[in-house]
Amino acid sequence: MIFFGTKGKTVAGPAVDCVTCPHCGKQQHQSFGLLRYFHIYAIPTWMTARQVGLECLHCKYTLIGRDVPDEISHQLKPMLFPKRRVLPLFTGLILLCCLVAGMVHIGHQEELDQAQYLAAPALHDIYIVDITSGLGQEAVQGTYKYAAMRIVHIDDHQYEFALGNMVFEKVQGVRQDIRKGKTNTSSYYDSETLLLSHAQIRHLKQIGALKAIERR
Ligand SMILES: [Zn+2]
Repeated sequence: MIFFGTKGKTVAGPAVDCVTCPHCGKQQHQSFGLLRYFHIYAIPTWMTARQVGLECLHCKYTLIGRDVPDEISHQLKPMLFPKRRVLPLFTGLILLCCLVAGMVHIGHQEELDQAQYLAAPALHDIYIVDITSGLGQEAVQGTYKYAAMRIVHIDDHQYEFALGNMVFEKVQGVRQDIRKGKTNTSSYYDSETLLLSHAQIRHLKQIGALKAIERR
């Protein structure tokens, strides 16, 4: 399968009889337009060329692009390439733009959420943390160091966290437990809790130990 490249499309235009065929000298021609576009997975994304062509009806000699007199070319272009015909060729590009804009929007929203969670922690917020940095814990088997910790109590200045019993090699492992709801039960966490001030939480974020905050 060809994933990307250029493709061509031919569209028929009106008859033209004011150009002399350089091959047979007759004047009857059939006009056509040639659209070339770049495609990704067969979806047209942007146009690379629009050319006007004339085919002699007698000998089939073909004039294309610059061979067609400028005046004729200018007259034919609006007929051969009207917007209704050309616009569908951009649907791929429009879709692509929407997709990118959507992704940027989601990313931006996530950032805003994270900043909000950090500024005002709430009961049962789950923090994905690197336990080896800032929390002073040892990595398990050398590389397993990501865990969930959940806010179990809040008072004016301190946040009490229960640290998850499961330690993962990747942040993704913790996310999966959160998604599956495993982190919602208290048995998921160690019975010993740790107290952190808001300043300490912000410090964890600053040193990169706090990877994400999840709120349900
Ligand atoms: Zn001819």
